[in-house]
Amino acid sequence: MLKTAARSSGRTASDIRSVRDDFPILQRQVRGKPLVYLDNAATSQKPSQVIETLSRYYRSQNANIHRGVYYLSERATADYEAARVRAQRFLNAAQPEEVVFVRGATEAINLVVGSYGRSVLRSGDEVLISAMEHHSNIVPWQILCEAVGARLRVAPIDRAGTLPVDEFERALSPRTKIVAVVHVSNSLGTINPVKQLVSLAKESGAVVLVDGAQAAPHMQVDVQQLGCDFYTVSGHKMYAPTGIGLLYGRGELLEAMPPYQGGGEMIRSVAFEKTTYAPPPAKFEAGTPHIAGALGLGAAIEYIEQIGWGFIHEREASLLEHALERLATVPGLRFVGSARERASVVSFVMDGIHAHDIGTIVDQEGVAIRTGHHCTQPVMDFFRVPATARASFAFYNTLDEVDVLVRALQEAREVFG
Ligand code: PMP
Repeated sequence: MLKTAARSSGRTASDIRSVRDDFPILQRQVRGKPLVYLDNAATSQKPSQVIETLSRYYRSQNANIHRGVYYLSERATADYEAARVRAQRFLNAAQPEEVVFVRGATEAINLVVGSYGRSVLRSGDEVLISAMEHHSNIVPWQILCEAVGARLRVAPIDRAGTLPVDEFERALSPRTKIVAVVHVSNSLGTINPVKQLVSLAKESGAVVLVDGAQAAPHMQVDVQQLGCDFYTVSGHKMYAPTGIGLLYGRGELLEAMPPYQGGGEMIRSVAFEKTTYAPPPAKFEAGTPHIAGALGLGAAIEYIEQIGWGFIHEREASLLEHALERLATVPGLRFVGSARERASVVSFVMDGIHAHDIGTIVDQEGVAIRTGHHCTQPVMDFFRVPATARASFAFYNTLDEVDVLVRALQEAREVFG
């Protein structure tokens, strides 16, 4: 149950204070200053509703799932499966069985690579990714391509940090068996036209994975409308605990795919001569899963739904607009990435100040931003920068917090000249 403003629908921006009250960490100070948390693309903060779900589970509900015939185990199983149904509706998957609980987006991609990819990819085949992928959507494909003698192709990006669709289309060929593309870039904020990309890839006969780690917290995802075969979600970036995420997989693909890991829970029967496997999603959930995490993810989804996409979009759009406007006033600051369609993520560099120094200086003011390559080294290479500073906003951030960041950057400018 939601305690505060998130309970009612049709909230306005003035409800922000009560929304912030849902996030206990936002009340704390760091270095004697109020915390200004602007690193939401790395991980979001967690509302009490999620924290309390974890606490309640461990205090009064803890039992292993799917095995026990006793009350607690049956309850835990029911709650775990209810979280799956909530996730199914959240993504508009056709069936709950199309939703696999995983550790995060990285594991979701590795599952697809290790199971689907390994079973279909042959020497001479191609996997197409984009030049703005997170390392999690590059390295697993590289490992697979090297192992089977396939080729990893990369659709280029442009100076705005967008993915030109015609170039993407040109990179597709009859040899392209798999396309793996990010929905929203974590280092540039770019929102890719994934529906169009999926449709082009499918026309050319490829199976498509969309990395939705940065999209699911910011926009309503509809996997059926996107038409993709796989979609990955990172729980900890959408107000849920770390160590839990989702893989959506189209039913018939999951049915046909071999297991990713072997162990308990993923079998139908085991004999030394031959083992048969459980149907999906159990086939892909070997071992005891992160039960509390799944419940926490369910609570996070409920929270997002009650906050409402309208509120989230309105808040995040105004934060982005304000940040772009105010940051542009800082002398020597240059944005990296300027896509028109973008999420509330802003990457920038400053003349004469390394990104890490920017991060350290603003930290003195209690401001948490990320600095570095953001696990997208090819993006840094493309823009010829070693690193960027990145501010990423969630609906609970305020325009005042943006101003605190901007003031801290202006001070940094004065220190470094
Ligand atoms: N893809 C993108 C675009 C990301 O931003 C991230 C996390 N930074 C990941 C994948 C990996 O997600 P996870 O932490 O859930 O493994």
